[in-house]
Parts: sequence; structure tokens; C-alpha cells
Amino acid sequence: MIETPEKVLAELAAQIRVCSKCGLSQQRIQAVPGEGNARAEIMFIGEAPGKNEDEQGRPFIGQSGKFLTSMIEEIGLRREDVFIGNVIRCRPPENRDPLPHELTACDGWLRAQLRIIQPRVVCTLGRYAMIALIDPYMQISKVHGTPIEKDGTLFIPLYHPAAALHQAKLRDTLIDDMRKVRAELQRRGLWQSRDK
Ligand code: URA
Repeated sequence: MIETPEKVLAELAAQIRVCSKCGLSQQRIQAVPGEGNARAEIMFIGEAPGKNEDEQGRPFIGQSGKFLTSMIEEIGLRREDVFIGNVIRCRPPENRDPLPHELTACDGWLRAQLRIIQPRVVCTLGRYAMIALIDPYMQISKVHGTPIEKDGTLFIPLYHPAAALHQAKLRDTLIDDMRKVRAELQRRGLWQSRDK
């Protein structure tokens, strides 16, 4: 039997849905494994599910998700072209920040998804994804929008869409940074205009 990335990713998602590696599993309605193209060239990784995501088991479907989706479309991609996930798979109570032991418990799921999908570009959304995937000592205010090559993958730290929704200046910065993401995809031959 041929193990396609789609099949392996779906099997991993099934394991994530029943994960009980940390206490967040006791309070969740649903775990949120992430969703999208198992062969995506580009991944977007956020922080943790919120209320809507917890209820529906899908990532980024609330207000910040709508904003993220609109930005993905704005740069000429569709949600189904990319993979969207989080560093934490279960909603922290009252949307509090993830705790160190929760991040550690969940880390293996993200590493496994990266190994299966093998994206060329990973956009981190917000501080927690940047810390987990790029460098714990970086400051997002200094490095947002800057491509960083690491172990053969290009990481681009971005502000979190939820933060940008509440601050007009950050919103403009994030939209600007997404255009840099598109330029980077174009430079690498990973982007094609859809209006042909
Ligand atoms: N915020 C996140 O970081 N992830 C989601 O899935 C939704 C909101």
C-alpha cells in the first residue's frame, strides 16, 4: 500500500483528535489538528484554537481566521492551496497564553506535520509560533516580514491576525508583510497568477 502524504497526514490528525498529552485535552470540545493541502508549498502556523475553532475542530475560522483567509486570497492563493495549523491543538481556557509544558507536549505534532508536508515556506503567525519554529530570542517587532532560512526551509515571521484586527497600524504592516510573502513565493517559482 502506498502511503501518500494525504493519508499519513489524515492518520496523524486522527491521533491528534484523541491526544491527552496535557491537561488542555480535559477541557476541550474538539482538538484542532490543522487543515489544508498535504503537499502545500506554504504553511501558516498560529498559536492555539479559540472558541469557534474548539467548537468546530477547524483552525482559523473565527474573526482572525476570516482576516487570514482574506489575506491568503489577496496574494492570489486559496485556503485549500496552503496548510493552516497551530502550535497548540486544544483551546486554552479563556484563550489564555499557552504554558511551557503545553507547548512542549504539543510540539511533536507540529514537527510531524512539517516532516509530512515538507513546505518550502512557513509563515509563523504571532509570537508563540515564531518562538517555537524560528528562534526563542527574536522580537517580532524587529523581524516581522523578514525571510529567515533555516534547515532548508524559509520561515517568515508575521504578526498574528488577531493582533492586527485590533490595531490599524499592525493591520497595514501585516498586509504589507503578506505582499513580501508573495514576492518571496514568486522569487522561488512557487506562485502563479490565477487570472490566465
Ligand atoms: N488564533 C489562532 O492562533 N489559531 C486559530 O486557529 C484561531 C485563532
